[in-house]
Amino acid sequence: MSARAMIGDYHVHTQLCGHAEGEPAAYVERAIALGMTEMGIADHLPMFVHWEPSLTMAMEQLDGYVTAVRALAARYPEIRILLGVEADYFEETEERVGEVLAHHDFDYVIGSVHFLGDGFGFDQSRNMQAIVARGVDAIYRESYRLVARAAGTGLFDVVGHLDLPKKFGHRPTDAAAIELYARGALATIAAAGMAVEINTAGWRKPVGEAYPAAALLASAAALGIPLTFGSDAHAPEEVGADFDRAVELARAAGYAATLRLSDRGSVALP
Ligand SMILES: [Zn+2]
Ligand SMILES: [Zn+2]
Repeated sequence: MSARAMIGDYHVHTQLCGHAEGEPAAYVERAIALGMTEMGIADHLPMFVHWEPSLTMAMEQLDGYVTAVRALAARYPEIRILLGVEADYFEETEERVGEVLAHHDFDYVIGSVHFLGDGFGFDQSRNMQAIVARGVDAIYRESYRLVARAAGTGLFDVVGHLDLPKKFGHRPTDAAAIELYARGALATIAAAGMAVEINTAGWRKPVGEAYPAAALLASAAALGIPLTFGSDAHAPEEVGADFDRAVELARAAGYAATLRLSDRGSVALP
């Protein structure tokens, strides 16, 4: 059995976010075809600042999302389908996000930073030039500061794509200083009892490597931070993408197990 046949994909989107394709059932059927026995749908939670329809579902769609994922779970008893969500972190909407998360019985929440505090979306291709103008190092620093803040809230279970600022291949000038910031964020993540994910979407982006980078993953392993796997699929065929490679990366970083989110159990890597 291949590695990806055994590990659940916990980072899967749906059309509701406005930038993914395919019926939700098609994602589930792909996971079943790969031999997964557990997966999670984690579409973007509505944002309460800087929102655009192409980024996340609208607030009035959230109840329908919850219902649709639970209905999928009932329709496909051969796989355990968890109700997850990927929530953006903004300092000024912490309270509102907390209320919305508490209002629904999500099985887990991925906390992600895609935006700086002023709403600058550093993972949007339309901002590729602006990233350089703003300063690559400054973007890394601010993103890790926000990741650490997010971890401190206790609202999230898993940190999404930890080193996302590298998406388009932008590397920090002062790599050592930025790595210190990243390690500081990891220490906060560890203290909060959160997991990190290996997000394989990075292999499909200009940077050409998974999030987080091998060195950061090794730091996470050394801190005892649990690990999940996510494809960040925005199309059905992306479910479970590169999970074999991701398992190799995890092993090389010092991981021997992965976190199963249904019961928070530790499962040996295949
Ligand atoms: Zn994301
Ligand atoms: Zn995502």
